[in-house]
Amino acid sequence: MRPLEDAQAEVLDAMRPLPVMEVTLREAAGLVLAAPVVAAHDIPPFPNSAMDGYAVRATDVADTPVTLPVLEDVPAGSVPTMTVEAGTATKIMTGAPMPLGADTVVKVEDTEPGDGSVTILAGAAPGTSVRPAGGDIAAGSVVLDAGVRLGPAHLGLLASVGEAHPAVHRRPTVALMSTGDEIVPPETSALEPGKIRDSNRFILRALLEELGAVVVDHGIVPDDASALNQTLGHAARNADAVVTSGGVSMGEYDLIKQELRKLGSVEFWRVAMQPAKPFAFGSLGGTPLFGLPGNPVSVFVAFEQFVRPALLQMMGSRRLFRPRLAGVAREDMRTDPAKIVFVRVAISPGSDGSPEARGSGAQGSNIISALAAADAFAVVPVGTGTVSAGDTVELELFRSAEARTRMEAIGG
Ligand code: AMP
Ligand code: MG
Repeated sequence: MRPLEDAQAEVLDAMRPLPVMEVTLREAAGLVLAAPVVAAHDIPPFPNSAMDGYAVRATDVADTPVTLPVLEDVPAGSVPTMTVEAGTATKIMTGAPMPLGADTVVKVEDTEPGDGSVTILAGAAPGTSVRPAGGDIAAGSVVLDAGVRLGPAHLGLLASVGEAHPAVHRRPTVALMSTGDEIVPPETSALEPGKIRDSNRFILRALLEELGAVVVDHGIVPDDASALNQTLGHAARNADAVVTSGGVSMGEYDLIKQELRKLGSVEFWRVAMQPAKPFAFGSLGGTPLFGLPGNPVSVFVAFEQFVRPALLQMMGSRRLFRPRLAGVAREDMRTDPAKIVFVRVAISPGSDGSPEARGSGAQGSNIISALAAADAFAVVPVGTGTVSAGDTVELELFRSAEARTRMEAIGG
């Protein structure tokens, strides 16, 4: 058996970055910056008010109440025309430029309007409610590095500095198929004996799309040599990667293996992990092929450990793996010490606030219900066979607990 880390390293080593292109901000969501972005100007570009109120000189409002003549009204988007001299004030709205002379904004709640004047009821220290130019981002600084996967806040940041067409790695196109004579579409109303509905394509499609991939769905391919050969060949020619499920395990009817070998260079691995020990990896005419096992939980785990990091590498991301955090096992877990084991767990906050994990259901690699009830994997390393309640465990969160389906699975 191959250690997971070695298998992952080999997969990542084979990935080539996708071409770089300029896209609109809307298209850039979820893609990875290919070049650092430098701010051409300060953000904010000018000193401005953080509040609706009155721009004053702090020294003028040291003793309150004090009534000051109001020079003008400056809404956001306009510019002040007058300097705030000693003993005067300018009405100002949030985001409007500070008038010359003023160093402080007194918020409207601390004032009382008069006729052409304002009474300041409470003083404010110099600089209060003033947002200085460059207070967020200084002109010339790197706002985002290459390799950052663009989330909502990053897009807002790029917009603020006028980077409307960031250079990103192109979105990967991924061909997807399920294999197996027993697999029928989910729409099948009455299952014939021996048949099961296809879960894997729907798990994988959602995982791929969450990652930003364009999915080409090749449906269900029967265990038939020419069908497999044709579909795989077509898929590989028209995608950046091919993901299959089924047909790669040890006792499996050898069709997939034969056809994969005909089409390219593919290796069949036994990885020291549970679930998802069998895994096929290689290249079909230069297109990476990920042959995942058939059981749905194995599919999910293999995707998370191999396909997701590999695609992120192709997309140019610097971060390939989900972060792990320390949690506490809430119950005993028994695992195979020869393998790294991804225990499906539900997470709840413990009494001291640190996350507590307990199994989300039966741990067979076919048990989709326990996968659907899980928030995370408790990652039990090679060499550890028993985790006792109260032990620290590494948690790999793959979703937030708000998406949980079975609240009872987490107890308190
Ligand atoms: P295999 O690796 O092809 O031997 O499949 C292992 C197990 O996963 C078998 O019980 C299959 O029936 C099941 N399986 C394979 N493909 C799917 C699928 N697309 N959806 C649900 N179960 C599957
Ligand atoms: Mg099969």
